[in-house]
Amino acid sequence: MNPGFGQGQGSDLAAAFRYVESLLFGDMERPGLTLYDLERLVGYPAKGEGPLAYTLPRSKSLSGVQAVRLYYYPKDPVLQLIVEIEDLEGRKHLRRFRWNGFTWETPEGGQGELKPTREDPASVQVGEDFFLGFPQEEALELEEAVRKGEASGVKYLLCPRCHTRVFYAPSVRPGGLVCPRCGNPTLLFKTLSAAEGTKDPLEALAEEQRALRRAIEELTAYLKRKLGP
Ligand SMILES: [Zn+2]
Repeated sequence: MNPGFGQGQGSDLAAAFRYVESLLFGDMERPGLTLYDLERLVGYPAKGEGPLAYTLPRSKSLSGVQAVRLYYYPKDPVLQLIVEIEDLEGRKHLRRFRWNGFTWETPEGGQGELKPTREDPASVQVGEDFFLGFPQEEALELEEAVRKGEASGVKYLLCPRCHTRVFYAPSVRPGGLVCPRCGNPTLLFKTLSAAEGTKDPLEALAEEQRALRRAIEELTAYLKRKLGP
């Protein structure tokens, strides 16, 4: 997996997770959140039997996500807290905890790890091109179609710095991707045109040489006319 992918948005999410982790478990500056603290935050029992929610105030650490909400379930014996982190694209990342009398732990079978689930699309490199989010077989098929010039209309990202092309599957959000070869975060959105990528490099070179030879012949003919034999 290339470490270049999935940064940007992902690191904002990671910052939010780190913040929640320090809130729940404490850090150098303050102790972790207790069950009693949580009850006070959500207004239990004054506001009823629950579940009760509390939205964390905006802060610098949370600037990369839409919201972080704590849900308190006072009547559930195995699950007391759900942390919901909503990212900028509206996806919700849930983590579940129970209070063991001392600290927060993950209920059996639950997901409590306070790290963002990495959703890096799988990347396949074929020649100079990268194929993102495709199964290996599909990537190879697409690569062949691109090489044969049968893939016009296919969208891709072009790195203006190193000229790497990144083809991406429909499930991949191309925004925020960085060049897998040089790390350049500014990629150009391109659509494969019919003529592009059709030529074998050797064939293209031969055509260039023929054109050059024609130009020289024309120039020679012109000079002969002008200067005489
Ligand atoms: Zn590049």
